Amino acid sequence: MAIAEVRVYAVPLETQNIYTMSSSRVATPVSTIVALIDDDGTVGFGEACLATPHYQSEHNDGVRAALELLGPAMLGLEAQRFTVVNAAMDATIEGQRAAKAALDIACWDLAAKQLGQPVVDMLGGARSDHVVSYHVVGIATPEEAAAEASALQDQGSTRLQLKTGGRLIHDDIASIRAVADVVRPGTDLAVDTNRGWSTVEALQVSNACASITMSLEQPCATEAELADVKANGHHPIVVDENATDIRTIARLITSGLANGFGLKLTRLGGLTAMRAVRDLCMASRVPMSSDDAWGGDIIAAAGVALGATLDPRLSRGAWISHPYHGVHYDDANGPRLDGGNVTLPAGGPGLGLVLDPDQFGEPVAVYR
Ligand SMILES: [Mg+2]
Repeated sequence: MAIAEVRVYAVPLETQNIYTMSSSRVATPVSTIVALIDDDGTVGFGEACLATPHYQSEHNDGVRAALELLGPAMLGLEAQRFTVVNAAMDATIEGQRAAKAALDIACWDLAAKQLGQPVVDMLGGARSDHVVSYHVVGIATPEEAAAEASALQDQGSTRLQLKTGGRLIHDDIASIRAVADVVRPGTDLAVDTNRGWSTVEALQVSNACASITMSLEQPCATEAELADVKANGHHPIVVDENATDIRTIARLITSGLANGFGLKLTRLGGLTAMRAVRDLCMASRVPMSSDDAWGGDIIAAAGVALGATLDPRLSRGAWISHPYHGVHYDDANGPRLDGGNVTLPAGGPGLGLVLDPDQFGEPVAVYR
């Protein structure tokens, strides 16, 4: 068995409920979907979709450009040889982990289908049949943020992520306090600034909110700034945007800087890399999330599959963007929120989705 054809599709995922982060606003990201067609006819699907051009060091047009080199490099490879596949991709082009993630996820889907198994079983098996999710409260007035936090908890959410940054820190502090006032026992609050504060601002917020039980997620842009906030502030530090690869994550754990991670499949390079990081985090007792910053059912199913294998006590949750764009590629099995959790897709082997390449329209590229 060998990969005989690679198809690339571009699928716009228009937001229905726009939310704003410190540096950018999510509008209509164009998702890249890859279909790997094996010479036995089995099809594996992968996806990469960057929320905005500012969120990480890649963007959606760049993903498709990288696939012009990576697509042909997949031909003749055996999907289940994940190490060989990743080595071939790394030998083809440096970096470009979002494009590599799409192909790596497609290999997992393809190999699992060929073996007649769910991807989650190949990743080690689910620790539960649902995966806790976390929910974003966008940058808003204190009253609006508190109302949304209450409504989310009414719906069953137990992990809240309040976005901050990009405005006066007094406004951020007011929103944090308003949300903290409505946070209920059993609900975890992370304040995510997406790199938006200076160390002075982060420390002022941490001092002003010293009595509030919360974590600070990526308050500043660099490791050195995060180390300053960790050493001189009052709150645990969750690293998201700086958690770029396995070596960096290992260093952030051993240095004690990171108390937790927000991890994205497209930033690490797919399920093969995420599996290694999972084992490192679980062995080190460091909580992590398993998700991506945007995208449809395919990347969501991959994030939820890996999220299901986490020790539930060390899971920061699997976020899915479906509530923000409302698009399902598979209406019956696409991952969706249910009372603060996401259920694993149950549409059969692989990622559990029932998909047809033709549903994504004309491919923008075909390699065979
Ligand atoms: Mg984050």
